Amino acid sequence: MSLVPPYIEALRPYEPGRSAEDVRREFNLDRVVKLASNENPLGPSPLAVEAIGDRLQTLHLYPRGGAALREVLAAEHGVSAKNVIVGSGSDGIIANIVRTFLGDHDEILTTEAAFGGFQIIARSRGVPYRTVPYLNWHYDLSALADAVNEHTKIIYLANPNNPTGTIFSRHEFEAFYRHIPERVLIILDEAYFEYAKDNPRYPDSMHYRHDNVITLRTFSKVYGLAGARIGYGFAHERLIGNLLKVKLAFEPSSLAEVAGIAALRDKAFLHRSLELNARSMQLLSAGLTERGYAAVQSEANFMMIDMKTPEAAAAMSNGLLKRGVIIRPLAGFGLPHCVRISAGTMEDTGFCLHAMDQVAEDEEFSLLWAGWRRASRRPLALAC
Ligand code: PLP
Repeated sequence: MSLVPPYIEALRPYEPGRSAEDVRREFNLDRVVKLASNENPLGPSPLAVEAIGDRLQTLHLYPRGGAALREVLAAEHGVSAKNVIVGSGSDGIIANIVRTFLGDHDEILTTEAAFGGFQIIARSRGVPYRTVPYLNWHYDLSALADAVNEHTKIIYLANPNNPTGTIFSRHEFEAFYRHIPERVLIILDEAYFEYAKDNPRYPDSMHYRHDNVITLRTFSKVYGLAGARIGYGFAHERLIGNLLKVKLAFEPSSLAEVAGIAALRDKAFLHRSLELNARSMQLLSAGLTERGYAAVQSEANFMMIDMKTPEAAAAMSNGLLKRGVIIRPLAGFGLPHCVRISAGTMEDTGFCLHAMDQVAEDEEFSLLWAGWRRASRRPLALAC
């Protein structure tokens, strides 16, 4: 008998995007830009960096489970600290949710090709993981509601969604929510909340609370702290109280916690980051549409492109890699024909579009792309 349960054997570890250093060495390049992991191209919040420096002298002391950050977040959102959880990234909190709420006979329900980090954590529990196809790259909320059965325990929704960048509105969510029994826990993953919050269609879930919904957010994206591993969530105190029983006692680290507190104060950095993202997304979106790629309209800091075949997707990401642009092929998410590109600085995004033009001239890529166009007999302008 194997030591390892079959559902663990069947998993593949999450593949982080390749590092710029690694690619620079492999292809002997001067310039490499990483547009693979939806990180903040401006780097970390300077106030957060300063706060980490200040805390180094007390590194010999154990952290206090994120108590100070919970208080700050509670005050900022007008809730009690009992409604707030913090952890090692929103990934860390998702892992704790899975450990806390899923029993052996429960099931997980979400969309096809959900955020890869969630897929791995969820599948590692060994209970059925059920999915519903996208509808025009959006969550099909009514199909998800129809798919709920007596075993469904967790429904995972990311808004904006990764990898598609699409959102659902409050009205769409509420129509879905009416069909969901109270015994089902809904994870509303809002890792990209800040990028979407000014869109009038985008709902701030802090404005409409439900007792079986946990909202997750992170410092990894717009606050530029992906390397610190710090995320947070809001929910009914009964849910948070049970999560606190399961969470590692000393998570998050004291450095991550002070970085989070300082980043929340750094409104100037937040503003700069959002302003750059809006411009860079505009450049990326217009550049992709101009070139005839089927880029999905996104409300986050990345765009997904449907390259129509796994071969074309691989040829595009490998061609870009050789030219110093790291993007995210989406086979690991379950979309082998798609790629995802993060918005960089204006220069990096421009560099990426220029490199795409060079890839388009590669014989291998142009044959694949032209082959798909002939087969589909469709014009190239497919932006949706
Ligand atoms: N949720 C979504 C939808 C994401 O895209 C990501 C990161 O890419 C995360 C969660 C993980 O964030 P964190 O770094 O806080 O674990």
